[in-house]
Amino acid sequence: MSSKKLLNPSKDDKPLWLHVEVLDAPIGGGGNRKWRCRYCNKIVTGSYSKVRAHLLKISNMGVEACKGFQMMFIVK
Ligand SMILES: [Zn+2]
Repeated sequence: MSSKKLLNPSKDDKPLWLHVEVLDAPIGGGGNRKWRCRYCNKIVTGSYSKVRAHLLKISNMGVEACKGFQMMFIVK
């Protein structure tokens, strides 16, 4: 799913989950989870692609760009 490698993927191939707080992850709900952004407190229900779109400010993903997250947070 993720084509860009933002972090060393050895630990987790979906590292941006660390930047949101997962509130609800329904069993059998596919990749959709209810999560709250740690930076702007926005609550979103969606898959990891929406987490990415929100934090990385990717448009056309049906989710608002984050106002609090800075790219420098994940640059090592
Ligand atoms: Zn946010």
